[in-house]
Amino acid sequence: MRKAVFLDRDNTLIHDPGYIHEPEKVVLLPGVGKGLRRLKEAGFILVVISNQSGIGRGYYGEEDFWVVNRRLQELLFPFKVQIDDFLFCPHRPDEGCSCRKPGTELLFRAAEKWKIDLSRSFVIGDKDSDIEMGLRGGCRGGVRVGKAPFETFDRAVDFILSFVEEG
Ligand SMILES: [Mg+2]
Ligand SMILES: [Zn+2]
Repeated sequence: MRKAVFLDRDNTLIHDPGYIHEPEKVVLLPGVGKGLRRLKEAGFILVVISNQSGIGRGYYGEEDFWVVNRRLQELLFPFKVQIDDFLFCPHRPDEGCSCRKPGTELLFRAAEKWKIDLSRSFVIGDKDSDIEMGLRGGCRGGVRVGKAPFETFDRAVDFILSFVEEG
């Protein structure tokens, strides 16, 4: 069984001006490239789980989600790390689906696909719903970035790695 860090994408890995779907607007947030590399080196699978209600609202299409993901991967090339998988909920909040965070459907789907032990896995996100998904799903912990003491992504990584024994 492997371990993973489940990552929110927008305003956690990349800056989000709101419903981001344009590749030219994709900018990595501080510490993300190096932080992801350190997590990978510590043996974590890196899985993005993203609420994309902009699709359900008709603001953009699923293909735009993937275009932004590809740009994110390009920006990570210099750091010699890549995201292993991207899962997303395309629904609006009022649709009442079970895949929108803090729902756990995508978390469990990823765990089954990648043979992930959730009790050894973590969540990093910028919203309560990100962290709550991890708690509901039995993850070991979650770190909310954007606020002290985890203003930046690399501080969140420091915290997670402090829990993890060598190897
Ligand atoms: Mg976010
Ligand atoms: Zn959904």
